[in-house]
Order: sequence, then C-alpha cells, then structure tokens
Amino acid sequence: MAIAILWSACRTMNPMTTPPAVEVTRAGKKLVCPVCNHDRFWARQTLMNTRGATFFNLDWANKKATNHVCDSCGYVFWFLEK
Ligand SMILES: [Zn+2]
Repeated sequence: MAIAILWSACRTMNPMTTPPAVEVTRAGKKLVCPVCNHDRFWARQTLMNTRGATFFNLDWANKKATNHVCDSCGYVFWFLEK
C-alpha cells in the first residue's frame, strides 16, 4: 500500500512523532489551520463513495479524497484527487 509506505517514511523523518503529524504543502503553499493556526497535520484517505451519487450524477462523489487533519484542533482539510 502506497499510504503505508508514506506513513513509514514520515515516521522515519520524525521518529519522535506518534501519530505522524507533518507539515503539508499544497499548491506551493504550506497548509495552516484556519481555526488554530497549527501547521502539523496527519493524513488519511477517504473514498467519496456516497449513496445516491450516481442518481444525482455526481461523478466527483466516487473519487478518492485526501484528508489532512489538524493535529491540534482536529479541523479537516479535504483534497479531491484528480
Ligand atoms: Zn487546528
């Protein structure tokens, strides 16, 4: 699993951090939590597979999303994979 490799890489870079909360860069900008200004996030992948998505023709709703969760307050960023 690619995500497992990514996580082990994060652990290697930050052996003291458990769970791995890392700085995240998106579109050339460092991600900063809009709620608490924290800059460390842990990541998870979510399948945007919602019931009724096909009925409403929401093709984006069946895509994978990457969540970056603020390690301080729990605010969740959502990034849809293209
Ligand atoms: Zn936060």
